[in-house]
Amino acid sequence: MAKKTKVRWDLTSLYDSMDDPRIEQTLQDGLRRAQEFAERYRGRINSDELAAQTLFEAVRDFESLQQDVDKPAYYASLLFSTDTSDPARGAFLQKIRERATEISVHLIFFEVELLEAPEERISVLLDDPILAQYKHFIKSTRLFREHHLSEPEERLMEEKANTGSRAFSRLFEETVSNIPFKVEHDGETEVVTEPEVLALLRNPKREIRRAAAGSLTEGLQSNSRTLTFIFNTLVQDKAVNDRLRRYSFPEQARHLSNELDPEIVELVVGTAEDNYDLVARYYRLKRKILGLDKLTHYDRYAPLFETRKEVPYERAKEIILQSFGAFSDVIAERAAEFFDKNWIDAEVRKGKRGGAFCSYITPDLHPYVFVNYLNRMDDVKTLGHELGHGVHASLSRGQTYVNFHGTLPLAELASTFGEMLVFDSLVGDADLDDKMALYAEKIEDVFATVFRQAAMYRFEQDLHNARRQGGEQTTDQISEIWQRRIQSMFLDSVELGDEHKYWWLYVGHFIESPFYVYAYSFGELLVMALYAKYQRELEAFPPKYIEMLRAGGSMSPHDLLSHVDIDIKQREFWQGGLNVIRGIIERFEEIHGEWIDKKLEVRS
Ligand SMILES: [Zn+2]
Repeated sequence: MAKKTKVRWDLTSLYDSMDDPRIEQTLQDGLRRAQEFAERYRGRINSDELAAQTLFEAVRDFESLQQDVDKPAYYASLLFSTDTSDPARGAFLQKIRERATEISVHLIFFEVELLEAPEERISVLLDDPILAQYKHFIKSTRLFREHHLSEPEERLMEEKANTGSRAFSRLFEETVSNIPFKVEHDGETEVVTEPEVLALLRNPKREIRRAAAGSLTEGLQSNSRTLTFIFNTLVQDKAVNDRLRRYSFPEQARHLSNELDPEIVELVVGTAEDNYDLVARYYRLKRKILGLDKLTHYDRYAPLFETRKEVPYERAKEIILQSFGAFSDVIAERAAEFFDKNWIDAEVRKGKRGGAFCSYITPDLHPYVFVNYLNRMDDVKTLGHELGHGVHASLSRGQTYVNFHGTLPLAELASTFGEMLVFDSLVGDADLDDKMALYAEKIEDVFATVFRQAAMYRFEQDLHNARRQGGEQTTDQISEIWQRRIQSMFLDSVELGDEHKYWWLYVGHFIESPFYVYAYSFGELLVMALYAKYQRELEAFPPKYIEMLRAGGSMSPHDLLSHVDIDIKQREFWQGGLNVIRGIIERFEEIHGEWIDKKLEVRS
């Protein structure tokens, strides 16, 4: 067994400790500056006399203030993530958050005035070169100007939401997380939580998966009256909000915040749907490999193979830097900085949060990467993923604060791309068994992101429309939509049993962020399509890609991508991404053929 890594990050470039006097100083200065900002600009933004110079100075001051005030919160959350069991760190984080809110309330007027400023005035100002760097920020903020209520109305909505929509959201969470899921197997009954019952659906033993599926269904069904009521309430609450805010269709608010035209979203989701045969093709082979007559809802996540090779952390570093370097030296150099300067926390230890993330908040500070590295091949991919985010953030640091973070549909661009580069390098070195495992895992990951989210988006559309046209929906009516939409992605390769029809009842995304799901399909397919472009153009591609990462959040997805001559309005572009997925499936089929031959050889 290879030794586990002891690598921890170094946060001293932020602050020395929780008691560092600079933290208190930053917060006190921040409050004073926020008050001064409000005194200086209140009433001057939403004004017929607004000048380009004033608007420029206001955004610049806003950025600089926000940038400083964010630092203690960045530090507190990083500190907390490596030891969530330390009450001092928890209390520190909470205190910093409260102080940050205290500061931010003084700045709310700025966004409101920017939204309400007269269009005739703003459209003239936006042509002034002094505002060039803030054009995207101002325009994207103002996308919502038609959908904004008066200040007293907004305040009312905000206050009532705590006992309205937010209360229902919380009731949903509390209900689902407190359902005792009773799993019966081998004559025993085990009571488990929702994440645990979902994990059991991935158990290699079919009886356990079947029991888990039964238990999930029973737990949800016995709470279906409450959960359906919450769904109906929140879907209707959104319909009322949408009417008051003058949105003409349920998805509109989400499209606006993603800065995507409805036609583009429709194109992406539609192209994914047109390729559902890829899903069926893979699951037919999966059925054969599992040796089953028929696949059903509890076989969908059955593991096919598992990788066995161990990869020590130092080796992961080599693999990642080499695969990034084969693509571009710039990318490899940016990634190497994370290892050389201790920007990564990789060690698994008590109290540390699970999972992985890359954190970056202001362009004047470097990003940090957080992983739990356990020497599995999967951990190499995860580290490659987070370093992809890291390189993206690192390259965007040339932008100022309001242009630093990208929009949601592009958030997973560099991470998924980085993961693809690492995946190619891992399969290149793997033995036949590990190769099978890597491919199967990759395919199922891609399916979960592209096709499942597309099907879920269709479910949400149907649900919102049904509620708007047909009034309150029963559990069975919603279940019927769910079953139809999810079944459609499998064609006849998987037969979802009747039990599966209740499985929409636990999906928090539908409740908390309506129509969020399509961003996943969009992001993943975009990367696949870019990967296809890279394979075609080879060395001509990386400079364009890097330019795109350097742009950070300074442009809308459409403008950013057309900059690197990609037209996201073209169906062929998206189909190119699906063809990459097809290629991965074909490769898996070939390797499976080799694997069967090898098994036969060994036997004879
Ligand atoms: Zn990510």
